[in-house]
Amino acid sequence: MPDPVRITFLGGLGEIGRNCACIETGGRIVVLDCGIMFPEPDMPGIDLVLPDFSFLRERVDDVEAVVLTHGHEDHIGGLAFLLRELSTTVYGSALTLGLARHRVEEAGLESRATFVEVRDGERRAIGPFDVEFIPVTHSVPHGFAICFHTPQGAILHSGDFKIDLTPVDGRLTDLARIGAIADGVGIRLLLSDSTNAEEPGFTETETAVGATLLRLFQARAGHRIVVTCFASHIHRVQQVVEAAVATGRKVATLGRSMAKNFELARRLGILELPDDVLVDVEHVDDMDPGSVCVVSTGSQGEPLSALALMAAGESKWLRLRDGDVVVISAHPIPGNEWAVGRVIDGLHRRGAEVIHTGVEPVHVSGHARQGELKTLLSVAGPEWFVPVHGEYRHLVNHVQLAVRMGVAPDNAVLCEDGDSVVLGDKGLRRGDSVPSGFLYVDGTVGDVGHGVLRDRRMLAEEGVVVVVATVDPHAGEVVGPPEIITRGWVHAPEAEALLGEASAVVQSALEAALSDGVSDHETLRRHARKALGRLVGERTRRRPMIVPVVVTV
Ligand SMILES: [Zn+2]
Ligand SMILES: [Zn+2]
Repeated sequence: MPDPVRITFLGGLGEIGRNCACIETGGRIVVLDCGIMFPEPDMPGIDLVLPDFSFLRERVDDVEAVVLTHGHEDHIGGLAFLLRELSTTVYGSALTLGLARHRVEEAGLESRATFVEVRDGERRAIGPFDVEFIPVTHSVPHGFAICFHTPQGAILHSGDFKIDLTPVDGRLTDLARIGAIADGVGIRLLLSDSTNAEEPGFTETETAVGATLLRLFQARAGHRIVVTCFASHIHRVQQVVEAAVATGRKVATLGRSMAKNFELARRLGILELPDDVLVDVEHVDDMDPGSVCVVSTGSQGEPLSALALMAAGESKWLRLRDGDVVVISAHPIPGNEWAVGRVIDGLHRRGAEVIHTGVEPVHVSGHARQGELKTLLSVAGPEWFVPVHGEYRHLVNHVQLAVRMGVAPDNAVLCEDGDSVVLGDKGLRRGDSVPSGFLYVDGTVGDVGHGVLRDRRMLAEEGVVVVVATVDPHAGEVVGPPEIITRGWVHAPEAEALLGEASAVVQSALEAALSDGVSDHETLRRHARKALGRLVGERTRRRPMIVPVVVTV
């Protein structure tokens, strides 16, 4: 009997982000993607969120390789962190590896990874699997769906995809190949992108954005134009460049990742532009406004990005003025709407005309909507189905779509982070769960535990009250009135009486404890905390963090 195949989901099933799955047979593991999630608004001071790697940490010697579907941060951003735990071989397209390598090099870990480039349609023996890399269209070039040919049959993972029939580079989602696998050995299990599973219809083609950009550029002759989009969206950048060239403009890049990706994509032949079109952003302010277009980072309203600095009038390179045009060629990731809105306000204050998706169709999604998801289900005709890459509601909707497309209701399985499924001779069953909590990373501190985050939320919402008391345990007395220091709890000058009362309450609690013979720090601190906490709660109906400090003389 052939070995069963187990798939363990470490992230991405329940959130958009930190995609990571482990596919395993005969004790050997291939990791499929290793991404980060951007922090939510209630995660103060957190820079990014990782999958919980405990499962892999215990199995370091069993990891055969990492296989990457494409170069977005939610698929590659965690690699530098995984490489701290283990050293391995990483497979992906040239562009995906180029983007992943930037991050790994920044972390100084390039010696721990061997990067192996694969081409469209290539098949590779990776550990116990025969792995096939099938082209798909998405909002970063050269993405793959990945077919694992296993002892239990073909397992197809869609990667992030849409079915764009007129992509910028003419490289189509290879439905014919997927159909051939389905007609041949058959697809036993399909794992498919659920991001747009709630959206009816079909996602528009990327080339439609190019036509819109050209029209906007033509209508704004004589005005300086700044376009912002994701730095990895090379096809969008290509279309901006083409609109610029067609209207007689030079192009400058603004933002570090835009400059880096420009260079990488040109080197790989993915981004094409004549040499004499590029100008340094330093010269832009001196150029005739109608002769230049700036391609910038910051489409998500990130606080220190090129666009946010422009909006605040603090850009070192570009001072926006009346008549300038800013095109935001992206959609805010959920959670970033507020930040993007603030940046748009700032741009208007500088006198710029702002064109975003609410005004003109300057962006299309990179993910399949229901029509395309149903097309894939129809072509693949899987025996079993597990939706991946989505929030819970997206996964639920995708299960419903699969059932409508003929997957048996019991064979469409809804999984979440930490779940595993085992594909064997008799079909798919649920396996053991593994730890799958959020791993918070604060750039300056490193890994941050749940406790730290809880403290930060409490400080942000309720403030802090510190009491400093000096006691003399031998004499059994409190030396002078305890000092109360507070931030973010009450406005101190108006609460003079309250602070005095708090000091007195702590003093009498400590005196009572001392007269009961208590002398150790920990217990004295506990008495101080309890007394102060009770007063604070009764008087203000608040729950600030209480920090008691007891000093003995
Ligand atoms: Zn993606
Ligand atoms: Zn993704």
